[in-house]
Amino acid sequence: MPLVSMRQLLDEAAKGGYGVGAFNVNNMEQIQSIMEAARETESPVIVQASRGARSYSQDRFLWHLMVAATELYPEIPTVLHLDHGNSPATCKSAIDLGFTSVMMDGSLMEDGKTPSSYEHNVKVTREVVAAAHAKGVTVEAEIGCLGGIEDGHGAGGSGMEHLTDPAQAEQFVKDTNCDALAIAIGTSHGAYKFTRKPDGEVLKMDVLIEIHKRLPTTHLVMHGSSSVPKELQDIINQYGGKLKQTWGVPVEEIQLGIKNGVRKINVDTDNRLAITGAIRKVFFETPEKFDPRDYLKPAREAMKKVVAERMVQFGQAGRAKEIKPIPMAEMAEMYKKQLVNA
Ligand SMILES: [Zn+2]
Repeated sequence: MPLVSMRQLLDEAAKGGYGVGAFNVNNMEQIQSIMEAARETESPVIVQASRGARSYSQDRFLWHLMVAATELYPEIPTVLHLDHGNSPATCKSAIDLGFTSVMMDGSLMEDGKTPSSYEHNVKVTREVVAAAHAKGVTVEAEIGCLGGIEDGHGAGGSGMEHLTDPAQAEQFVKDTNCDALAIAIGTSHGAYKFTRKPDGEVLKMDVLIEIHKRLPTTHLVMHGSSSVPKELQDIINQYGGKLKQTWGVPVEEIQLGIKNGVRKINVDTDNRLAITGAIRKVFFETPEKFDPRDYLKPAREAMKKVVAERMVQFGQAGRAKEIKPIPMAEMAEMYKKQLVNA
């Protein structure tokens, strides 16, 4: 099947009461890992690319790899989503390329670092919503800022500086008509999210629950939601790596989020850790090897395992067959006739 809109997948997830993992890609092996995991668990899936990934893959490589994915895995409803678009122009270039969903992160200025004003955020998000919906493309927006920096993008800090204000989130959805809303509840991008197992002091699930109460039909998005499992950190360090001990977002907290309106969960770090651990192991144990396939195959397998595990934990496993793809042109018509609920 062709790529589908993220809105359709998230509407289905809301109906079914589950979440959908959004996994970042930069290359062929990562796309293969995700698609294999989706096939094994019969999951719909969101594949996402950051600006950094688009530049690394020169856009066209990424696009054709995704076309290959839809040909080779026709039974899997697949979304191609732009992660953290920094400006309307970036989002429009993704829409022109064929992305079926874009994130306009207007919580930061175009430099991708400086927290913006509410007015700036509304203005750029509205502009992208108009351009995207005209083509049936989904828009994710962000209110409040996550901590950390990844791929040169992020406000930095611990994640507690710019938590989402629930009342402002409610107003923002009214002002922009975005399809999905990323919120800041104390998480950060990258591996170093928390210095201890997070509790309610640092991971603000109460804020998330309050936002869901005010916006019961809005699809919420959790960014920076790798769990950073100790076993993946250990493999890297066992084979010569030097990671400092760190904590991510526990899967049970994500599952609590899913019970409270979270429909999209961004996971990147866990996959990076799995890949790097597998490659380090091959280098360490068999230093005589030099065929890239000798380490890329185990790397691919390690990432697939993490992705499949998350798909089961988020509840998207087994749901692929329930989704009958709505063509993008039909989605555009539905937005035009206001048949898509805000
Ligand atoms: Zn993010």
